[in-house]
Amino acid sequence: MAHVTVLATGGTIASSQDSPGVSVANRNVQDLLSGLTPTSVTIDSRDVLKTGSYLLTHANLRLICEAVADALAREDVDGVVLAHGTDTMEETAYLLDLIHDSAKPVVLTGAQKPADMPDSDGTANLRDALKVAAHPGARNKGVMIAFAGMIFPARGTLKVHTVSPAPFRTMNGGPVGHIDGDRVVFTADPVRPPALRIPDQSFDGTRVDIISVHAGADAALAKAAVEAGACGVIIAGTGVGNGNHALVEWVGGAVRAGLAVGLASRVLEGPVQPNYGNGGGADLVRAGAVLFGSLPLSQARILSALLLSQNTHPTARSIEPYIH
Ligand code: ASP
Repeated sequence: MAHVTVLATGGTIASSQDSPGVSVANRNVQDLLSGLTPTSVTIDSRDVLKTGSYLLTHANLRLICEAVADALAREDVDGVVLAHGTDTMEETAYLLDLIHDSAKPVVLTGAQKPADMPDSDGTANLRDALKVAAHPGARNKGVMIAFAGMIFPARGTLKVHTVSPAPFRTMNGGPVGHIDGDRVVFTADPVRPPALRIPDQSFDGTRVDIISVHAGADAALAKAAVEAGACGVIIAGTGVGNGNHALVEWVGGAVRAGLAVGLASRVLEGPVQPNYGNGGGADLVRAGAVLFGSLPLSQARILSALLLSQNTHPTARSIEPYIH
């Protein structure tokens, strides 16, 4: 029988109302597991955090990475399930995937409806995640998200709906499998780039901000990010990755001063490309911005922060294995 470690961090799956219509993460891992009928896996469990994922800090992310690494290192553990809020699941999943160097799977799951709602999806998602983590076919597939009967790779998977019970979708790709009753079916292999090192304490204070381009945007927020201590900025360009004249000028000075400026898109799917001048992506790249390929914005920020915290500048070359 497979053995799975279940780690809980809070999120809607662990939430119930604390005042009319307002939920907070207030349940622990034992509460989550109590809803499960006997499963064909053995389980040990632990609470890592008990919070909404919209509150997570880099220090919290590092704690999660350490808890997952500890579980994976145990010989008796075949896989790990991480119960997590859906809001920022894409960030935690991608960070865990970047550092994952084990054959054992890590499966994130959560819920869209709080645990005290009669139609809460948490227990069903947790049961599915356990099946995936225990399945021999999950080995060497890295970090995945199991949600609403589907299995997604960490990289490229985003929350794309605020309330749907099936809120996740993989950009520039698709799910890697599904759960059909007791059957776990894998249909694809996620891309597995070389593992990066687990974040250390310097990750906690590594500030990388996202600056969005929009009608009327200038470089004021980019400058404010640097003043607030950012060592990296990801520009959320329009379309294929375009900016404006003020940003182009700012990028030139910021890159000369040593700041890491990445270029991603505020569009969910597709690569960024240096196709336009007159303040567009070609000018941003000429000024020193680094193209983040097809990596979604939130995950581009995580990659940049992890590399910077480990004294690796996110250059076209250093990010190449992680961005497509
Ligand atoms: N809606 C979120 C969730 O599913 C809240 C959070 O991310 O913690 O858990």
